Amino acid sequence: MVDWKESAKFVAGELGAAAKGAGKLTQNAVRAMTAPTHVCSQCGFAGKPIMKSKQNGCFALILLLCFVIPGILYILFTSKTYPVCPKCNTWNTMIPIDAPRAQALRHTEESVRHERPCPYCAEPILVQARVCKHCGREVA
Ligand SMILES: [Zn+2]
Ligand SMILES: [Zn+2]
Repeated sequence: MVDWKESAKFVAGELGAAAKGAGKLTQNAVRAMTAPTHVCSQCGFAGKPIMKSKQNGCFALILLLCFVIPGILYILFTSKTYPVCPKCNTWNTMIPIDAPRAQALRHTEESVRHERPCPYCAEPILVQARVCKHCGREVA
């Protein structure tokens, strides 16, 4: 004979474990959502790129209304989305954070911040710089 009480308990336990597992999964997903995944090679911003398409809604509509086939082609060709940096809004500058280039970028981003104006041309140069990168003069 099957003990219904026992099997009910078992099912409840299984359900609870499954719910716990799902909770862990969502936690991981949330962490993955918030952790920076890309670095912008343009401005050094670390975070998630925004996916945008280059499609122009009005232009597509006009094309569709006047010339159906070019309109469809336009929509097909432009519906691909590209990663855009949320900070400087540049296309395709976001590189994966685990790429060696991104690591280098982040590294320079951290060490590059100590700047001072060049005594000759007043452009910002690194505190450690011996030669101005803008005017090429030797700075003490
Ligand atoms: Zn950027
Ligand atoms: Zn200079």
